[in-house]
This record gives sequence, C-alpha cells and structure tokens, in this order.
Amino acid sequence: MPSAVGDARPLTARVGVLGLQGDFAEHLATLDRLGVDGVDVRRPEQLDEIDALIIPGGESTTIGKLARQYGIIEKLRDRVAEGMPVWGTCAGAIFIAKDVPAHPHPLAALMDITVERNAFGRQIDSFEADIKVNELGPRAFHAVFIRSPQIIRVGPGVDVLATLDDGRVVAARQGRLLATSFHPELTNDDRFHRYFLSLGKR
Ligand code: GLN
Repeated sequence: MPSAVGDARPLTARVGVLGLQGDFAEHLATLDRLGVDGVDVRRPEQLDEIDALIIPGGESTTIGKLARQYGIIEKLRDRVAEGMPVWGTCAGAIFIAKDVPAHPHPLAALMDITVERNAFGRQIDSFEADIKVNELGPRAFHAVFIRSPQIIRVGPGVDVLATLDDGRVVAARQGRLLATSFHPELTNDDRFHRYFLSLGKR
C-alpha cells in the first residue's frame, strides 16, 4: 500500500464523483451531509485534484463509453496504481470490474471480480433488503437494489463484505477498491460512505 507520508492533506480531503451519467448528485449530496468536499469529475485532469473517487449507479454502457471518449480510463488506472481509493455502486461496480461477461471490452477493469449485469431478472429488478455488513457494525444496512448486478466471482485478494440471505455477493473490497451492487447514496444511512472514506487511511 502506498503511504500518505509526504502529503500533508488528509487522504480523503476531496472526493470526486464521476459525473458523466447516473445518480452522481445523490453521492455528492451524501458527501455534503458528511462535511466532505465533493467534486463532480468529468475531465481526466480532475483526477489529479481528488483523493478518492466514487462511480455512481446509472447505465454502465453509457458511463463506460463516455469515460473512454473523455480519456478518463487511462488516467484513472494511473491514479489507482498510486493507491487512490475507488468505489463503484451498481453500474459503478460494473465499471470497475475486471470481468463483465456482458461487456466483451472491459470498462475500467480495476478490481478482480466478475460482475453479471441485471442479475436479479426482470420480475424483481428492483428490491430492498436489510443486509449484515460486519465492517459497519451490528445494525443491518438497508440496501436498495435497482436493476442491480451481482458479483459472481471474487479474486484471491478480494474480501466479501456482504451477501444476501441466499449467499449472493453484493459488496466486496480489494485493498482500496470497493464494489457494492446496491445504492447507499439513496438512503440516509451514510455508514458505507464513511467506510469508503476510511479506506484511504489504511
Ligand atoms: N443495470 C445497470 C447497468 O447494467 C445498472 C443499474 C444501476 O446502476 N442502478 O449498467
């Protein structure tokens, strides 16, 4: 892990939210509630001005296409190699996964997970569930799923953080990379955001 030595700023002083498409405004609102300086990131050079990045939910094909067009993917890979924390929620989890069967060309391909799009099927494409997340303490986290992906494989360096009752993986972490198939930004529970902000300090 790269260390913060030499950088006087707290590691999570400024947190970017990729604002190309999707529910980035909800993430920015949550950061604002937490008193964190949130930045709407749309250009590659902005990645140099932030200490962590959130990829919101939305439409992964669109986010991936725009990110490639705007030259964000290469720069993002460099920043992750330097140790910048990145969190993908829903479409964002698809965006950061190394393997997505539905996207023959991977998007940012940062995290060693396989993610299946729209994994919960048409009939129950949106649902809510109380899930247990040890890292967040004993109180269950109310998770909102909207046409959500499922994490169907985790690589050797990846920890599973949460599953549904049937064992399906819905949150995982690899070092400073975090993936959730649900939307913590759509609830008032900011524990996942606070957990993400703590990753830069580990
Ligand atoms: N189904 C969307 C996709 O594949 C993700 C949905 C979401 O982010 N809520 O990109």
